[in-house]
Amino acid sequence: MLKYIAVIFPILFCLNTFAKDVVVYTSRKEHLIKDIFKQYTIETGVKVVYKTGKAAALIQSIKAEGEKSPADIFMTVDAGNLWFAGKEGLLESISSNKLRKNVPFNLRDEKGRWFGLSVRARTIAFNTSKVAKGELTSYEGLADSKWKGRLCLRTSKKVYNQSLVAMLISELGSNKAKAVVKGWVNNTVEIFPNDTAVLKAVAAGQCDAGIVNTYYYGRLMKKSPKLPLKLFWPNQENSYGVHVNVSGAGVLKTSKNKDEARKLIEWLSSRTAQKSFAQVNMEYPINNLFPESKVTKSWGSFKPNKSFNLSNAGVLQKDAIKLMREVRYK
Ligand code: FE
Repeated sequence: MLKYIAVIFPILFCLNTFAKDVVVYTSRKEHLIKDIFKQYTIETGVKVVYKTGKAAALIQSIKAEGEKSPADIFMTVDAGNLWFAGKEGLLESISSNKLRKNVPFNLRDEKGRWFGLSVRARTIAFNTSKVAKGELTSYEGLADSKWKGRLCLRTSKKVYNQSLVAMLISELGSNKAKAVVKGWVNNTVEIFPNDTAVLKAVAAGQCDAGIVNTYYYGRLMKKSPKLPLKLFWPNQENSYGVHVNVSGAGVLKTSKNKDEARKLIEWLSSRTAQKSFAQVNMEYPINNLFPESKVTKSWGSFKPNKSFNLSNAGVLQKDAIKLMREVRYK
């Protein structure tokens, strides 16, 4: 018996040592992925090589490289971007029981081309000295004229807002969604290029509330904990819940290493990896059965939207962009 172990163990070890590297093209910042990929290498012996860049540029590279592309995985943020990569025919349909189990249905592609790996909420941040209790209710509520001159928004060019409006179209229908977004635009003081600028304007009292992704709030409050800012969870009672989106990944059709690529994505969705993967960017784990961080817990619990399948963030993206253009949301 011992003899067999002595023979088999080194063989298994060698196989692992010679497992091909997995190459990830990702729009995620290096400091958010570096350590988690290292951890994967320590656990499995498989090296993860990554190239970072903007989602659109990486998609262009993958297309230009074609069959010769070294990339095995495309990893990015927002279901709108993931959906686009799928629509362009770049992603392979993956059948994986692990991923089906770990990633809730509404947070992955039904054809298995991409899977959410961390959750962020796009919610309302407000100035605690300027907004009274009960004033905030819902995304729709911010369209009310009582918010005139009190709202700050990020540009409609950002996919985060396109996905949010896609959800509103899906939940309310086009006409109602349009009235809501028009109301926002009427109430807005200024449109900003990013979420952090929105938060700073709200904190400075330039406006009273804005719509932002949760981790930007986390980052800013970590740096400046005394800012008069808080998160509000809209649409909680008798409503569809807070808009959530994901960062996620899919295996590329041109990958020569699809099994290893799938295994890495499966591992990223597992309980052990989720801890580091979600927490490093102050995001939520992909599955609410996995524990969340102390930081996100301190923002309070909320009911996330579950009725809007995130694939529809892509399907309705064109309609969302058109709607925002029609109401002059810059
Ligand atoms: Fe972001």
